[in-house]
Amino acid sequence: MWIGAHVSTAGGVENAPVNAANLGATAFALFTKNQRQWTANPLTDKNISGFKKNCQIYGFTPAQILPHDSYLINLAHPDKEKLKKSRVAFIEELRRCEQLGISTLNFHPGSHLGQMSETDACLRVAESLNEALQKTSGVTAVIEITAGQGNNLGYTLEHLSQIISATENKSRIGFCIDTCHAFAAGYDLRPEDGYSKFFHEADSVIGLKYLRGFHLNDSKKDLNSRVDRHANLGEGAIGWDLFLQLVRDKRFAGIPMILETPDNTRWAEEIKTLRTISE
Ligand SMILES: [Zn+2]
Ligand SMILES: [Zn+2]
Repeated sequence: MWIGAHVSTAGGVENAPVNAANLGATAFALFTKNQRQWTANPLTDKNISGFKKNCQIYGFTPAQILPHDSYLINLAHPDKEKLKKSRVAFIEELRRCEQLGISTLNFHPGSHLGQMSETDACLRVAESLNEALQKTSGVTAVIEITAGQGNNLGYTLEHLSQIISATENKSRIGFCIDTCHAFAAGYDLRPEDGYSKFFHEADSVIGLKYLRGFHLNDSKKDLNSRVDRHANLGEGAIGWDLFLQLVRDKRFAGIPMILETPDNTRWAEEIKTLRTISE
């Protein structure tokens, strides 16, 4: 099982694998650029070779890395010009992953901003993906389930399925389950409640063969709150049981499981607990 956290790239992306190794992680996530800005300096040869070298030294293969795109990108944007800006930025992010030898890019599907139906917005995301996948190569776009806050898409398995169905290149599309988001969106995946049912449903609605990542977060808010507030494991409404079950579920071997919990001073301990249980 590959277990890690979303680590810092302060000082350059090449530091991410070092930071992950220091946590005792076997997987990691990162931003390949500042997630709150549209533009970024191109990656330098030093960044690229340093990243690849450090991944080799610390034993991270591309399948153990799940980068996250910028929060500004909205691939469903109702406004033509703004949609174009998001598409350009998303393609740029896919290219940065290509340069770093990373094979996936996790993203939030986007928001209809109250100006389109959810179905039309999902189709627009797929159009954006079709263009982006055509203009790049080698990197799989991984749609993350969302908490459904505000006008955000992606809070049902059906939304993810609609987007994947309308994406032409099925070999480069996948999805990611963020446990906090799924729970806040109304899926009770706690072991004694809906764990089996949830994954059965995910398999029949989308297909578990498309599952490419997990974000392991407890939730400060209740089931079906539609509010996205991560908590450290065991300190939210979900509780430790789900995470212990997930890391023992052999269906998910080889799929990166990434902590995005708020107190990063506890990551090493959380990772250690999960890795011990998984063995
Ligand atoms: Zn997440
Ligand atoms: Zn979140």
